[in-house]
Amino acid sequence: MSGRWPIVVAMLAAVACSSVAAPYREYGIRFDAPAPPSLDQSPSDGELIDAIAWLMRHRLDLPFPADIKAYVYVNEATFVDGLIKIGGEKIDDAWDRGRFASGVATRVGLFLRGDYLARTHLVGRAGLFAHELAHVSQSKLRAGGRGRPAQWILEGHADWVKFKVLDLLGYRPYAESRDTVVRAALGSTTPITFFPDLQALASSTAWTQSVNRLGSPATYGQAFLAVDWLVEQYGSAKLMEFLGRFALDADPRVHWGTVFPIPYRQFGDNFRARLNGLGRPTPPAGAGSPAASPPSSSR
Ligand SMILES: [Zn+2]
Repeated sequence: MSGRWPIVVAMLAAVACSSVAAPYREYGIRFDAPAPPSLDQSPSDGELIDAIAWLMRHRLDLPFPADIKAYVYVNEATFVDGLIKIGGEKIDDAWDRGRFASGVATRVGLFLRGDYLARTHLVGRAGLFAHELAHVSQSKLRAGGRGRPAQWILEGHADWVKFKVLDLLGYRPYAESRDTVVRAALGSTTPITFFPDLQALASSTAWTQSVNRLGSPATYGQAFLAVDWLVEQYGSAKLMEFLGRFALDADPRVHWGTVFPIPYRQFGDNFRARLNGLGRPTPPAGAGSPAASPPSSSR
């Protein structure tokens, strides 16, 4: 029983910290280790973040700002307060972004809900860190430029990075993650026919409204499948080039046409046809079976 006291003291200390709006924990994120940090069976959040950041920098060639940190908070109120005071978010934006989020990316790094992390399994935590770090990298890619890519591309790319990282960590093969997203789309309470077109998921406001109204498969799932297909056809280097062009002092509307050989609207239409095709009967999924990837677009 006496062993409980240090835990209680630690919790009291955390609560005391939170009352002055400081993060419960704070990590400087390291990218420069000579080799990928090795992880044991139950890595700490800090170890996991460093390993993921290293893989994203050195295996996926994603750029990052020089000094970023991960800030962990004990609850929603301190989390939102941290977004305002350390992340530099406006008060309304901080509440919008922080209210239902378990993690948020800003220019200075990752803001995380420690209470959520404490009850999330390893793969879930790794996925959250990778998704949010992808957003940090996207901000670096377009720093100083005009405009921003459509929200479906940003979110789809963040989940694409997440699934690549889970594969690189040996936690889950990429094809299995994609298969899970396809199954979630097919089983979605919003039928695929009622998924919004990609063009309707361009602004962050429309994105948030659609997530709340239609759920994750219609938004995050669809956006990931679209980015996965974009990469399958043109390669990840083209996608990186596209995201990086927003750093230029140029009309953001010309970037797609400069990078991809297919008009934006045409890609959206082709993807829509492919998405609708997912609803047709497919053979049961099995290890290594053709059902591991979505049906081909010609159907
Ligand atoms: Zn995101």
